[in-house]
Amino acid sequence: MNNNTPTSDPSCQDDFDPNSLPVEIAIAQIKAQTQATQVTQQIPTENSLGLVLAEPLRSDINVPPHNNSAMDGYAVRAQDIQPNAVNKLTIIGRCLAGETFTGEVIAKSAVRIMTGAPMPDGYDTVLLQEHIERQEEQIVFNTAEKLVSQGQNVRYAGEDIKQGDVILNKGRHITAADMGLIASIGIASVLTYRPITVAFFSTGDELQSISQPLEAGQIYDSNRYTLRGMLIRLGVRYWDMGVIADNPDSLRSAFIQASEKADVIISTGGVSVGEADFTKAILTELGNVNFWKIAMKPGRPLAFGKVNGKLFFGLPGNPVSVMVTFYQFVQQALRECMGETEATPPLMLQAKAQQKLRKRPGRVEYQRGILSTNKTGELIVSGTGDQGSGILTTMSRANCFVILAMQTTTVEAGEMVTVQPFSGLI
Ligand code: AMP
Ligand code: MG
Repeated sequence: MNNNTPTSDPSCQDDFDPNSLPVEIAIAQIKAQTQATQVTQQIPTENSLGLVLAEPLRSDINVPPHNNSAMDGYAVRAQDIQPNAVNKLTIIGRCLAGETFTGEVIAKSAVRIMTGAPMPDGYDTVLLQEHIERQEEQIVFNTAEKLVSQGQNVRYAGEDIKQGDVILNKGRHITAADMGLIASIGIASVLTYRPITVAFFSTGDELQSISQPLEAGQIYDSNRYTLRGMLIRLGVRYWDMGVIADNPDSLRSAFIQASEKADVIISTGGVSVGEADFTKAILTELGNVNFWKIAMKPGRPLAFGKVNGKLFFGLPGNPVSVMVTFYQFVQQALRECMGETEATPPLMLQAKAQQKLRKRPGRVEYQRGILSTNKTGELIVSGTGDQGSGILTTMSRANCFVILAMQTTTVEAGEMVTVQPFSGLI
């Protein structure tokens, strides 16, 4: 395999079709049929990572709850400080984090204070300990050398969150930072949507399951493992139904079982021309499914619709097509089914192509790339090798898709291209 030539075979004309469906239209049609689950559950904050909030979260408190010092130093009153002069203030007490200073306010005084400790009433400014000289029970500092401004080094009550603020909206996918934010307002449990269940199976008489010996003409089923990985990352529940044989009875019963137990059904294989007729007949009987030819590579054939009222994605069989179509069509839909309304679109960057990338117009290509930075800090992208839709090694080596738009033709080395890092795809 050659690592330096991420090419598609330009002589291969078989998958160009001027009547094929643009990616954006397929996405819009999927979106139109996607609905958020309505099933909710109360979950301890500590177990909420990756779930989606089913109600807005409002704070009953200010965060921080009191004005406090941002630094270790001395709390003073700005009104006691002379500009352009040597100032001397008497230390009248101290206040550590977790304590409150209850002494009286005295003119020309200072209170020793530590980071996070509440500001003593009547004091409005904190001087850093590095900026003063301590002389027994006095602090001495020169405002000609170091300016003091009122309020410096003070954190104010409510400066992070004000009492009554909505800190997170309904439909928010809970991140690690969100877990801390929820804890900072003292909330011990949250109402979330219950994760949806996705049933998936592979179709194909040539498929053997791992840990079984390969018979003549067989290949191992890899799609159920890439799918499993992508579904686990999304935080959905899943049901791996195994390999379903290419015959109408097995397929019909797999679809019926899946639609009874799961919220969404994903199959791989059996949707390409030649195989589709077979699947089409069953799906016409069980639901309303469209068989699309999408103007993309890889991933041209895709079936989408409802089977017994459940969302169904019939992904192509080729292992890389499965991943490309999952990331471009299924992932976003599953996030919406999980109740997410604030899903940030996947990150897109511009990077300089390191080699010539062959491409034909009339379809969007999702080539596999390795994104990195060069010595001068520029984003660069190289191909991972053979771009065939069955070549999983070049997918495994990649960390991004290079997305070449519909009308783009061959890209020369040094041109800028759009890349979608896998990290942004979950
Ligand atoms: P199909 O879409 O069923 O015509 O399959 C297209 C190609 O993908 C064929 O070469 C299949 O052998 C291969 N394929 C289908 N399903 C899988 C699978 N689960 N794992 C690995 N390869 C597969
Ligand atoms: Mg097949």
